[in-house]
Amino acid sequence: MENIFGSVHYNAIGPYLKKQFGGRVAKLALDGGFTCPNRDGSKGTGGCTFCSEDGSGRFTGPLAEQKARLADKWPEDTEYIAYFQNFTGTYAPADRLRHLWEEALALPGCVGLAVATRPDCLPPDVLDLLEEFDRKTFLWVELGLQTACEQTAAAFHRCYKNADFEEAMRNLSARGIKAVIHLILGLPGEDKRQVMSSAEYVSSFRPFGVKLHMLHLMEGTVMGEQYKNAPFPLLSQEEYVSLVVDILERLPQDVTVHRVTGDAPREDLIAPLWTGHKKAVLRAVQQEFRRRGTFQGCKV
Ligand code: SF4
Repeated sequence: MENIFGSVHYNAIGPYLKKQFGGRVAKLALDGGFTCPNRDGSKGTGGCTFCSEDGSGRFTGPLAEQKARLADKWPEDTEYIAYFQNFTGTYAPADRLRHLWEEALALPGCVGLAVATRPDCLPPDVLDLLEEFDRKTFLWVELGLQTACEQTAAAFHRCYKNADFEEAMRNLSARGIKAVIHLILGLPGEDKRQVMSSAEYVSSFRPFGVKLHMLHLMEGTVMGEQYKNAPFPLLSQEEYVSLVVDILERLPQDVTVHRVTGDAPREDLIAPLWTGHKKAVLRAVQQEFRRRGTFQGCKV
């Protein structure tokens, strides 16, 4: 097996989309005005204990506002994927979702759609709608699994079981819809063995993509308060980077990598503070691949 990714060492989504669309494709993070069944009482209240009041979507906003804000940053001809990022992006009646997605796709430059949601929020009419949009645009669905360890998931109040995730993956796959799975590294009580086992579980579904995040503890979250009252061990940057590279070495080469570290807004970040320096973490991941002389999929 050879390193087909050059100096990047892994199948990063940016270059993948560039190849697919013949130019730069950015993601436009949107707020569709959703909430989450794990907050409104239908599945739970208070949400996952690490989730912030903005539903992990600090950098999102309404469509027109986001496009205007990013116009200075991107060249005029940049194409983009409309990304419904915060809270549960399918937690609404199908006709409302249709309206939102059509509105996003109608904007000049929009070449695709990404929808972040929970596996237990994909009823048949929403799956039908996703399938319909998948036929007319480049679409993927993101699922926040975070861990395959049921005990850890219960401790942070995920409020769905792995069986729900497995059913969602079966339904998406049967309709040919691409899935991107989120994993959080460094959850309380998890060691390297558990993280690698979650990564192996995710790989076994051969998803379109994965997103890896370090756990970051934010002000205003239940887990942030728990940490302030009784600090628990967190991964150092070196430990995190080593785990990321271990995971990617075992990830099949056709699985796209959407993120190897998160965007922690520094003003509300309690710990670990190194997660506020995204570029340094990205550089450290590259350096670790170079040091080992390895690349994504070399240990599959
Ligand atoms: S499912 Fe997502 S949006 Fe809902 S509480 Fe958990 S992390 Fe937040």
